[in-house]
Formats: sequence, structure tokens, C-alpha cells
Amino acid sequence: MHARVLILGAGFGGLELATMLSEGLGEDAGVVIVDRSDAFVFGYSKLDVMFGRVRPEEIRLPYADFVKPGVRFLRETVTAIEPESRRVTTEEGVREGDVLVVALGADYDFEATPGLAEGENEFYSVAGAERLREILPTFTEGRAVVGVCGAPFKCPPAPSEAALLLHDFLTERGVRGACEITLVMPFGTPVPPSPDTSAALLEAFAERGIEFVPERRVRAFDTSRAVVVLDDDQELPCDLFLGVPRHRAPDVVVASGMAEDGYVPVDSRTLATRFPDVYAVGDVATPGTPKAGVFSEGAARVVAAQLLARMDAGPEPSPYEGRGSCYVEFGAGRIGRVDVDFLSGPRPTGTFQEPSLELVAEKRAFGSSRRARWFGQ
Ligand SMILES: Cc1cc2nc3c(=O)[nH]c(=O)nc-3n(C[C@H](O)[C@H](O)[C@H](O)COP(=O)(O)OP(=O)(O)OC[C@H]3O[C@@H](n4cnc5c(N)ncnc54)[C@H](O)[C@@H]3O)c2cc1C
Repeated sequence: MHARVLILGAGFGGLELATMLSEGLGEDAGVVIVDRSDAFVFGYSKLDVMFGRVRPEEIRLPYADFVKPGVRFLRETVTAIEPESRRVTTEEGVREGDVLVVALGADYDFEATPGLAEGENEFYSVAGAERLREILPTFTEGRAVVGVCGAPFKCPPAPSEAALLLHDFLTERGVRGACEITLVMPFGTPVPPSPDTSAALLEAFAERGIEFVPERRVRAFDTSRAVVVLDDDQELPCDLFLGVPRHRAPDVVVASGMAEDGYVPVDSRTLATRFPDVYAVGDVATPGTPKAGVFSEGAARVVAAQLLARMDAGPEPSPYEGRGSCYVEFGAGRIGRVDVDFLSGPRPTGTFQEPSLELVAEKRAFGSSRRARWFGQ
């Protein structure tokens, strides 16, 4: 008999964890994975939808196609988590595991920023990306502000990518000259762990006339006066706001008592929480890495290796090293890459690869390899 593993959340972290346990244990894996959605969506697909590069229905990967030996997918909403007993309540009943892995990601706190509304002037939800897809073609003059409302937030390069892709979008429509683009970020540089990536992005902004406002957050969007208000009370005229909402751990996680300072603290080498046999991976946890799918996936692999070793189905696991590669859209059909290492040395480091067509193909392969591995497509 294997330990019964109960996974909450079928995002990057949950999907990879369930896949590895299935590969290691087969039909006996006894894994249950719970998610409230009916489909998975890659985070970066939201940019593709917003800029009209793909149709909204093309980015959905239905969980009906996530079929693995020994894994049962339950489409249910988690309403309570009791970490001491590893008991979970959903709308359908009670679920229990010998091991519990919380991979519920980060939610958006739209109410925290006056004037920011889900699905209206933000591009971090699917609804928001779909709505902006309709609005962008109508924006022909004035100032667009791509603005981050709080930190931490998912995929730190994404706001820079949005600003660069917006430049291309407006240029292709012949209206760039009548528009200004401003990017508001809470960091001093676009990608702090990698000075080379930041320098390349700053150069790209300068070449395209994109104004970069560092170390500021958007506190509010005053629609009646068409201004965004920054956290130092500065006001910027704004005819189009592309907002990155403030993030927070899902309410059900906060209510469980697992979170401290907003998210779930874990041992950064093992992803174990302070509750026996309870782990947390991905955006919901704070192992010391940014909130990005590649880190959720890497953390899940480390938890899977520990569980397989414990069930005599794998070698002694290596600790989590917090490494990941992120593809960065530079516009003009080019993609760069930054390889970051957060935990193996005394401080985070990052290595940059110049934007190229080869990296466009590599990013495509990144997505298609996960689609094949998780969804058999
Ligand atoms: C615009 C944008 C671009 C991005 N680009 C990249 C990129 O290029 N590379 C990269 O690595 N990352 C990127 N990301 C970030 C990436 O999408 C996230 O960091 C990643 O999805 C986190 O994985 P996770 O498994 O921790 O959580 P998630 O993938 O968010 O999964 C959490 C799951 O939990 C489920 N859930 C939540 N609450 C409940 C509940 N109460 N009951 C049941 N189910 C629940 C959700 O439905 C969801 O499926 C991007 C994000 C955005 C928004």
C-alpha cells in the first residue's frame, strides 16, 4: 500500500507532481488531485489572447484530457483545509490523504486597488485578457499605462513583455505616434536578479520610447479623471490601463492557518510546511523563488522525488535549488531567455540570452512538451 497523496490545485505544480507520482507508482499511485476549474491555461497565453495572437478557446487545456494511471481528478472547490489532520472539505464532501500537497496558486485581490476591476482593465486573468483583446483595437491615441499594483506578483518579466508587445501592436496599426506607453514597476530594474536582462529590457524601452517608472506601484485608477495614482501620490494621465492586480494566497489557505505574512512558509530545500506530511508548492508558498510556473514545476518535482523515495520507488532526492528558465518576449518577433538561480548560492543570480528566433522556437517547445506530458496532446 502506498501513502495516499491528496493534491490541491492542478496548475503547473499539481500537474507535474501527479504526473511524476503516476510515472513512479503506476496504477497503484492512489493520487487524488482536486481543482475547481475545467481547464488549465498557461500564464503566458493571456498575453497571446490580449494581443490577438490566438483565439481564447485555443489556450484551454481541458482537465478531461489529464488522464494518468493511478490518478483521479476531481473537479471540486476546496472550501476548508485542516492541515493537522490532512482533511480537506470541498463542496462535494470530505477528502483525506496520508500526504497533503497544497498547490492552489495565488489569487488576485481586485478590491485592493480602487478602479481596477476583474476582467476590465487587468491582463492577469483569462477574462481580463479576453476583454482587453476587444478594447486594444479601439485605443488609437493617448497614454497607456502598464502598471503593477503590488508585489510579489506572478512572472516578474510579464509587465515588461506587455509594454513591448503593446508597442508592436500600436505600431502595426499605425497609431504608435499618437500614443505614449508608460510601465510602472515596484522594482528598481525590470528583472532584479539578472542585471543583463534588465539592461537589455531598459535598452529596448529606450529604443521604443517606452517610459519606465521604477520602484513605484499603482495605488488606484481614477476613471473619472483618467489618471493612475502611484504610491507616492504622483498622478499619471491614463487613457488605457493594463493593470497587474495585487496578489494574495487563496482565502481557503489563509483561513486554514497555514499562511504567515500572506503565503505558506516552507522549508526551501524540501517544500515541507510546519505540519507533518503537508507540503506546499508553487505560488502559494514562499521558498524564496519568484511566482512563476517553472518554479512551481521544479518544486513539485522535488516533492515527488521525496515521496517516491519514501515509498521505495525512487532514489534519494536532491534538495530544491530554485533554478528556472524564463522566456522573455522582447517584441519584433524575438524572445530572450533568463536562467535564474535563487537558492544554490549566497544570492540570486541570472544569466541572459539575447532575444532570437531560436528562442521563439524553444519557448514553443516548452509549451508543447508540457501539453504532451500532461494532456497527451
Ligand atoms: C500574464 C502572465 C504571464 C506569465 N508567464 C509565465 C512564463 O512565461 N513562465 C512561467 O513560468 N510562468 C509564467 N506565469 C506565471 C504562472 O502562470 C504561475 O506562476 C503558475 O501558474 C503558478 O503555478 P501553480 O501551480 O503554483 O498555481 P496555478 O497554476 O495558479 O494553479 C493553481 C490551481 O489551483 C486551483 N484553485 C485555486 N483555488 C482553488 C480552490 N479553492 N478549490 C479548487 N481549486 C482551486 C486553480 O483553479 C488553479 O488551477 C505567467 C503569469 C501571467 C499572469
